[in-house]
Amino acid sequence: MGNTDYEGVIGLEVHAHLLTESKLFCKCSTRFGAEPNSHTCPTCMGLPGALPVLNRKAVDFAIKLGLALNCRINRRSIFARKNYYYPDLPKGYQISQYEEPICEDGFIDIEAGGQEKRIRVKRIHMEEDAGKLVHEHTIETSTYSLVDYNRSSIPLLEIVSEPDITTPEEAVAYLKTLRDILLYLEICDGNMEEGSFRCDANVSVRKKGSKELGTRTELKNLNSFKHIEKSLNYEIRRQIELIEAGGRVIQETRLFNVDEGITYSMRGKEEAHDYRYFPEPDLLPLIISNEWIEEIRSVLPELPGEKTKRFIEVYGLPKYDTEILVSDKDLSYYFEETVKTFPEPKTVSNWIMTELLRELKERNIKPFEAPLSPQYLGELLTLVKDGTISIKIAKDIFPELMDKGVSPKTFVKEKGLIQISDEAEIASAIDRVISLYPKEVEEYRFGKEKLLGFFVGQVMKETKGKANPKMLNELLLKRLKT
Ligand code: ADP
Ligand code: MG
Ligand code: ZN
Repeated sequence: MGNTDYEGVIGLEVHAHLLTESKLFCKCSTRFGAEPNSHTCPTCMGLPGALPVLNRKAVDFAIKLGLALNCRINRRSIFARKNYYYPDLPKGYQISQYEEPICEDGFIDIEAGGQEKRIRVKRIHMEEDAGKLVHEHTIETSTYSLVDYNRSSIPLLEIVSEPDITTPEEAVAYLKTLRDILLYLEICDGNMEEGSFRCDANVSVRKKGSKELGTRTELKNLNSFKHIEKSLNYEIRRQIELIEAGGRVIQETRLFNVDEGITYSMRGKEEAHDYRYFPEPDLLPLIISNEWIEEIRSVLPELPGEKTKRFIEVYGLPKYDTEILVSDKDLSYYFEETVKTFPEPKTVSNWIMTELLRELKERNIKPFEAPLSPQYLGELLTLVKDGTISIKIAKDIFPELMDKGVSPKTFVKEKGLIQISDEAEIASAIDRVISLYPKEVEEYRFGKEKLLGFFVGQVMKETKGKANPKMLNELLLKRLKT
């Protein structure tokens, strides 16, 4: 990052769409991708006289996240009107929370560059999303902008961090950790392309060791981890160079241009909105009882951070394995279920990380959609372990087992794949190979030892891959000596 006298200071504001069936203040569906304006009613279109009714499920989800992020859940919070005009905002204001949000003062533990770090969460507040404009829509010879209110009033949580993040790498680690937590809680689908998980980043720089905050800029609408990292790197470098050249950072909103890899000014402080917040008169203060909070706490799942620690401690897995397994809640269940039938965690992990993940990806399915159940995978690994089939056979038949959902035991019996562990049978296959390749045998005996692999391969071919590899090796070595 060029000049090492400076450090970046980053605070992130994340918007997460909640997976409720209906919108925040009406009964309309939240489903993505429906016919434009088919999920609308007088309330979410802001027609005069329509009144909002708060969705209880959305509050459940907010409490869930608050607890998962170690926040205080405020027993009383209020909704506020954030006033501004835009065609995607039919009421002329957005219902949000301002001075008294539902959750405050939490933290997220992240890991970046091999180091653990705690990032404080300032607040989480509930709000409704705006509609969506579709620009440059051409009908016959004219071009229009159209508006779709299906997204209008879909519940969002805004998660605001303290400016504790100092590098783009930490920013990405924070966002990934937060996204994983949302997925584990099953309250957001985390889809960045569809905008269910969006981020604005506030950035400033300061001399290392300084405690004061510099003037910040805000980067809007960053919708992939890669863009976030790139734009932050660019923006930090830009600010340092500006200050070093005797200039001053101006507080402004900037956009990231993906193609050029640079940020540019969208609007300055003078053009910044004055939202004239005031308490929403159509909604009562939100009062949350201790019982409500305890009820939610009692159904909180084990979170990725705790699970990672447990996988390392209980199963003795390397960190690398744990990260892959825990990154997907279902995959971590799949792993634990398999270990129940085949209690060798590292072996199970290896098979999941290579064979299973590859086949899942190829079929574009989730772990539990695979006809090969954890029980069956355990059975397959047992067949390898007790010498019934070779590893090679197990790998060869894996794709077929993924499709068929049959017991591996039955499958290998029916297909005649059971490993040959009969010495005489292997020895006769070896004899056949040796008589086929007298020249190679000669060479081997004169010291070309790397030919051993060739012979092993040939004997395997003779036995259709079924020779017990250990016996094959021993017998072959003995035979080649004589
Ligand atoms: P506002 O009310 O203008 O939105 P907040 O105090 O809510 O400001 O902060 C918004 C975000 O900006 C937070 O994530 C916060 O951590 C971050 N932030 C505030 N000041 C700075 C700064 N000087 N440098 C970087 N980030 C900052
Ligand atoms: Mg803000
Ligand atoms: Zn509606």
